[in-house]
Amino acid sequence: MIKKLMVLLFIMISYFSFGEEKSYLIKEGAPLEITNQMTVIDVEYIDYNGDNQIGKIVVNKKVSKEVIEIFKEIKESGFQIEKIIPISEYNWDDDKSMEDNNTSGYNYRYVQNSNKLSNHSYGMAIDINPRYNPMIVKGEIFPSNGSYSKKNKGTIDSNSEVVKIFKKRGWKWGGDYKTLKDYQHFDKVIK
Ligand SMILES: [Zn+2]
Repeated sequence: MIKKLMVLLFIMISYFSFGEEKSYLIKEGAPLEITNQMTVIDVEYIDYNGDNQIGKIVVNKKVSKEVIEIFKEIKESGFQIEKIIPISEYNWDDDKSMEDNNTSGYNYRYVQNSNKLSNHSYGMAIDINPRYNPMIVKGEIFPSNGSYSKKNKGTIDSNSEVVKIFKKRGWKWGGDYKTLKDYQHFDKVIK
């Protein structure tokens, strides 16, 4: 009897955890071949109160191991991240996630003001503390409540340890772009 109950309990737990994971990955309109490449991973970080936290981020399976390492190193460097919540919790709305200073990865979407798919669509891009590392295009700031100042917590500049941690693994930083600045953005292109 107990054995049967245990089996039933196990099935229920697997069903619910699988269901929860799926909801983080499936975006309406995204091709199945893309969705199938994604995985949700737990990453460690230090929050704005200085407390240890575990966040969830969705990335491509090809980079999941190194993304876990990257966040571990960011944590060891003492850099603070406000929150890491899958963007599905914001109904896949990048503006809402950025305004909330949420760090995120995968989102099947286009680059701002273009018809080009973002590297976030392939789970190969990560935005860190986007409100305080905004994207700045021709003087316009995204998100609209964003600010880029050393006075803010968790700001990234070219001397940041965070930039070095990503770059040594072949990731590129949006703060290096010439025509615009995307201080929150890191991505990796695998050919
Ligand atoms: Zn980005």
